[in-house]
Amino acid sequence: MTTRAPAYRGRFAPSPTGPLHFGSLVAAVGSFLEARTRSGEWLLRMEDVDAPRCSMAAASEILRVLEACGFAWDGAVVWQSHRIQAYAAALERLKAASRVFPCACTRKELADSGIAPDGATIYPGTCRQGLAAGRAARAWRVAVGDARVSFDDAVQGTIVSDLANETGDFIVLRADGLFAYQLAVVVDDAEAGITHVVRGADLLASTPRQIFLQECLGVPTPDYAHLPVAANAAGEKLSKQTRAAPVDSSRPGPALIAALEFLGQRPPPELSGATVSQIWTWAQAHWRIDQVPRGPALHCSAMQTPLGLRNHGV
Ligand code: GLU
Repeated sequence: MTTRAPAYRGRFAPSPTGPLHFGSLVAAVGSFLEARTRSGEWLLRMEDVDAPRCSMAAASEILRVLEACGFAWDGAVVWQSHRIQAYAAALERLKAASRVFPCACTRKELADSGIAPDGATIYPGTCRQGLAAGRAARAWRVAVGDARVSFDDAVQGTIVSDLANETGDFIVLRADGLFAYQLAVVVDDAEAGITHVVRGADLLASTPRQIFLQECLGVPTPDYAHLPVAANAAGEKLSKQTRAAPVDSSRPGPALIAALEFLGQRPPPELSGATVSQIWTWAQAHWRIDQVPRGPALHCSAMQTPLGLRNHGV
């Protein structure tokens, strides 16, 4: 009797804080091709949990560009803004299991604490044993203890993380009442039955926190593959903040080809005049994740236009 391989279910999860730029297109292309070439499903989730930073206009624009680029997702789009009750239920479970604690610290009070290599504050543990008299809870944090997390990333190799010295106890419910991205992603991926997460390496530092939360909540840990992110000459990730150009939906073919090249695939020159559907046919026949360059960032010289990209490690 043969055992059936577990089903593959992947996803793309853009944050609608602005138009789809080249860096996000790369994550969409990589996650889509990995799912489809493994006969898997590919789900789409709008990560609008951080409501003040998101807009419906940006979400509609992202969907429009994805459609113009020929992406087809399985099922309905999931909106994080509709899932607040699921995050609240997860927080209640964490409270019941004594994995979280209320925290009264302000940003200013934490400013003097340890600083991680990425510039983030390492929580010093001030409220872990209880709030000081007269202090009110602002946020909820999960206690990481001395947890070490390690996982094998399909692109970046083995990643080992010492949470206490990298982030410390991290926030799951923010002082402004919004659920933290880390909690939302874990709850959503678990509920959707995501088996494989393929996304940009800018999220590599978040993954150990997400794996830790998965363990706290007793949900499975998916397999991970973190694709290199497109960076400008200064090593900054292409994003709205670094004024990356939006993907030009009137010319989806060149953008798709540039994303494939960026991911180490080798689309032949004759594909440059092809239709979107011809490009996808080629891409699905030739996609190989082991050709994706390792390393968290790749210099993308054409920062204002995704055309004619060439990769250079940074
Ligand atoms: N929403 C995140 C972003 O756009 C991606 C989250 C994820 O793929 O887990 O950067």
